[in-house]
Amino acid sequence: MSWLARLKRQTALDQDATKPTQPPEADHEAGFVGFVACPPVPIQKIKALKAAANDAAAETLAADTDRYCWPHSDAMNGQEIDTFTARLAQFTDKGLSLDDAERSADKLVIRDRESDDRRLCLECAHLQGRGRWRCGNWGVADVARDGLAPDLVKILQRCSGYPPATNNAA
Ligand code: SF4
Repeated sequence: MSWLARLKRQTALDQDATKPTQPPEADHEAGFVGFVACPPVPIQKIKALKAAANDAAAETLAADTDRYCWPHSDAMNGQEIDTFTARLAQFTDKGLSLDDAERSADKLVIRDRESDDRRLCLECAHLQGRGRWRCGNWGVADVARDGLAPDLVKILQRCSGYPPATNNAA
């Protein structure tokens, strides 16, 4: 069949994109038969797929970013940043200035990396007060009953009365 004859026999194709495009007749010369558009998928499903893809991309990005952080460099990794932030809140709640809290949290980043077993009173469940501190376990800790010196609260030490106050303490 010539191209002119095929042209004359041509009828309009079904315009519905969701149905398979059929050849105009039972003409086995015809080529493509198939869908020409996406099948109808619920919008919610598309949104869920996009959200899952975004979550996966965010996780991949975080993992990629951590590749350039501790232990591969001195920069804090995601876990360390989370812990640092939580400690800042914890220490300022205990009455430290933001500068002092940052210094103490910085010290603990190094402490954790070096697997140092010393602790701050600021991490301890027995620390009482805010700015003027007292040890609630003074008998076991062997410290003064009435109050703790500010320098003692901010120094890394090994104390027999210490239990961790939160998960942020190592
Ligand atoms: S028990 Fe030890 S670490 Fe805890 S507050 Fe008292 S002196 Fe500090």
